[in-house]
Amino acid sequence: MDFSDLIIKALGLQDVVIEKFEQVTDELKLIVFVRQSRETCRCHHCDSPILFVHEWKERRIKGPPLGAFLFVEIILLQLRGICHICNDRVRSSSIPFVHPFFQNMTLALCELAGRLMEEMPCGAVARWLNLNSKTLWDLDQYRMKSMKPLMKLPEKIDLSKMSADEVHFRTMPKIDSITKPEIKFVTNLVCFKEGKVLANSPGRDARSLATCLKTLSPEQRASIKTFAVDMHEPFLLAIRKLCPNAQICVDRFHLAERVNAAFDELRKAEFKKARDSEDLFQQKMLAPHRRFVLVEKEKKLKKEDVKMLDRLKEINKNILNGMILVEHFHRMLDKTDTIEFKKSLMLWYRLVREAGITAFRKLASLIRKYRNYIEAYINSKLTTAKSEGLNNKIKVLRRSGYGYTNQESYLNKILQRCGYLNSRFINTNTWFWRLPKNLA
Ligand SMILES: [Zn+2]
Repeated sequence: MDFSDLIIKALGLQDVVIEKFEQVTDELKLIVFVRQSRETCRCHHCDSPILFVHEWKERRIKGPPLGAFLFVEIILLQLRGICHICNDRVRSSSIPFVHPFFQNMTLALCELAGRLMEEMPCGAVARWLNLNSKTLWDLDQYRMKSMKPLMKLPEKIDLSKMSADEVHFRTMPKIDSITKPEIKFVTNLVCFKEGKVLANSPGRDARSLATCLKTLSPEQRASIKTFAVDMHEPFLLAIRKLCPNAQICVDRFHLAERVNAAFDELRKAEFKKARDSEDLFQQKMLAPHRRFVLVEKEKKLKKEDVKMLDRLKEINKNILNGMILVEHFHRMLDKTDTIEFKKSLMLWYRLVREAGITAFRKLASLIRKYRNYIEAYINSKLTTAKSEGLNNKIKVLRRSGYGYTNQESYLNKILQRCGYLNSRFINTNTWFWRLPKNLA
């Protein structure tokens, strides 16, 4: 058995002869000197055989790690010679194993780095492989774009339960001091059973969701039985139009978000009052960083905190009422029976009326409007772990990329990390040695 053939293959090289090695063990570095095989050299311009040798030009290319040698440098002697077809000009021989756009890396290294970037931020991969992080960012983009036309959903995917949600993309810098900063969103279409993002599109209007839904076939859309969304009219419009058999429901995750937002609005208002009246105790208790303590569902608070909270409840009626409303709301959603739920809801409405807090009043009228969809949730028993989990994953993704400014890159990255745009679902195994014709 010829081990040099194995090493050539392992490094992703082709049509070369290994001339020698140099090891720099304490740097985990291997330098491999190779020469193109004379007989297989072809003109990079017209692909016909090169007839006469003009010179052997030295090129340095980075290869993939080889065992313990984490850093492999390939010093390649590339043939330059006369090509008859190209009017006897001196032409370089093509090197099939070097990436066409990242010329100092082998395809094998590019594919390896690309796969690592499916799991880790570019910067981490750059440090690990001792490569430039900007180059790797470009490579990641290139790879996602190349893979996108190959992306398809698994054949037997169960689309009976779906959800759609918007995630924050970026807040545009203010143009002047009067206008509010523009916040941009991205809409994701999620398959509940798989816990994956199937499609996404910019914005959060009816068209955004329609674009996502249209990536599914009419049969696939007809197979959707339950569709979980936020109480967001444009989404409801798109679903009613494109998913004929879908029962729309507002899931718990979105409801919890809304009730927390209402409470936070109240907290802010009360915090402002406390500041105006220079009430130090209330200012401390209602400070933004403590907002989670106030709405903590199962009270896992320290004794001291409980004492303080009790004191706050005693002196601030609005906060006390707000807390009762939040708690009752959660208990109401625990109901598994629609009649029980309705009873509980009627009571909640009454409590809201009596409390007279604007934020909760607004929420109550929203709930009234979408009550049927909330009842559908009570019936469907959808758990929200998946949409919550996915949203967290996307948040982490955005943070670990230190925010995204490029919309296409953000959309693709979500599909890569949370969907089917990656090598687990698209077979790119041959890309270690050659790229498909349309990419090369
Ligand atoms: Zn030629």
